[in-house]
Amino acid sequence: MRIRIANFIPISLLAVVALAAASPAWSQNADTILVNGKILTVDRQFSTREAIAIRDGKITAVGTNTDVRKQAGPKTRVIDLQGRTVIPGFIDSHIHAIRAGQTFTTEVNWVGANSIVEAMNRIHEASLAKKPGSWLIVAGGWNAAQFKEKRRPTQADLVAAAPNNPVYVQLNYDWEVMTPAGFKAMGINSDADLPRPGRLERDASGNPTGAIEDGGGFDVAIALFEKLPHPTFDEQVEGTKKFFREMNRLGVTGVGDPGGNNVNPENYQPVFKVWRQHQLTVRIAYSLCGPTSGKEFEELQSLTQMLPQGFGDDMLKFNGLGERPTWGMNNNDHPSDDDKEKYYQIVRWAAQRGMPVTMHWPKDETADTLLSIYERVNAEFPITDLRWSVAHLTNASAQNLRRMKAMGVGWTIQRPSAASVENAKELDVKMGAGTDAHRVASYNPFTTLRWLLVDSKNAGGMQRGPEQTPTREDALRAYTIGSAWFSFDEDKRGSFEPGKLADLAVLSKDFMTVPLDQIGSIESLLTMVGGKIVYAAGAYAQLEIGSESVKR
Ligand SMILES: [Zn+2]
Repeated sequence: MRIRIANFIPISLLAVVALAAASPAWSQNADTILVNGKILTVDRQFSTREAIAIRDGKITAVGTNTDVRKQAGPKTRVIDLQGRTVIPGFIDSHIHAIRAGQTFTTEVNWVGANSIVEAMNRIHEASLAKKPGSWLIVAGGWNAAQFKEKRRPTQADLVAAAPNNPVYVQLNYDWEVMTPAGFKAMGINSDADLPRPGRLERDASGNPTGAIEDGGGFDVAIALFEKLPHPTFDEQVEGTKKFFREMNRLGVTGVGDPGGNNVNPENYQPVFKVWRQHQLTVRIAYSLCGPTSGKEFEELQSLTQMLPQGFGDDMLKFNGLGERPTWGMNNNDHPSDDDKEKYYQIVRWAAQRGMPVTMHWPKDETADTLLSIYERVNAEFPITDLRWSVAHLTNASAQNLRRMKAMGVGWTIQRPSAASVENAKELDVKMGAGTDAHRVASYNPFTTLRWLLVDSKNAGGMQRGPEQTPTREDALRAYTIGSAWFSFDEDKRGSFEPGKLADLAVLSKDFMTVPLDQIGSIESLLTMVGGKIVYAAGAYAQLEIGSESVKR
């Protein structure tokens, strides 16, 4: 009898039972536990817990100090949070991170510079660090409002900071200012030397000011940027690592990368190299833009022939098309019928292939153009499970959000109006927060959160109470589990629940209670990706393990 029963039990199961019985208790202990904290789980109830346990890169328990301490053994690393707030790592749902990384060590950035004086100091310091005659480049990510002088820098400011260098400073896709050495190096002497429809900016007397007016669209800035020297491959790899560490400093552990202008297929090689080296410290879900105007469809078909939707791993994976499948509909509110037809053909094919599409569309007034195409495709090949999305759409109306909801289309928000967030919340449209950095905005999530909670109220001209949308809870949800949805990851990350990846940030101040005007100054003191420490500062500085690779 006994023999017969044993014969019916698969050998593998017997082996597991034997192993479990024989293995000592410590093998089930946590690698790390964090105790004495205010842990914002961002679970369905938005519950707060004291402690969290991590093993093999995943969360094994969230609960009271007493409960979680039961998972500690002699080799467990115990981190005392001393009451600090812990959040699931931020996931920026729309950031040009791959592009930003490539130039992070070779460009000058003005993120966090509060005055023209400080901005010019950064230019001056960069000029000292580089060979004479080297280009100094600020490729966006700033605006005049961040400076206490409340103005843009002038050519004279730049010349004073770096008299011997060509300097290029870009403001969004609208305006550039360069030193005379910059104009000389680019061979620009008159309007005729500029890409169309750019013009030299002139003062009241008709003299050139040293700046360029782009005249609408992205073309001028894109063309000027292409003329600048590109960093070497090694510089791009180095920049990518440093940029992601900078993101970790601000508590970011994941991004949705929507390609973007000046990003071509070859520009993915640096980030692929960092991934191969197991040195990525931010999880990336990337989507592809149509590289060449007029050839988008054939190129996208070819590029994805061997790239099925979702291909990759937890650190890096392919996530469909966007934010610019075609050039014809690139930031164009009034595309021609031909432009629309070409776009339709591509996204229809994407739907057939089961790919998500994310689309840059700033204006609600003209969103019908885009949504009509989505609806046309949806009638042929349902997209309701494919997690398509619209990016930006600053003043999303209830009417358009309802159309999106009906197709399961989500919304990636950067600086939306408060009223539109309220609409989306009411209609239960999926929202993922982010920055759209680094050319048009800072990559700092706390800058965006501050804007969502403070400035968005003023933008709508309304006086709003603290409990009105978006609340701090709404904002944090959108920046974590909300963003995770767009890459099909809400069951893997974005909240603290057993079985999920241990991506977290211990904050320098309590996001839930700090005065609103201090939100922008929060930083992470300890950031973990898959249970590995990728950034540590202040009281935790000694915990950092330099080049330890992140498990994937
Ligand atoms: Zn965009």
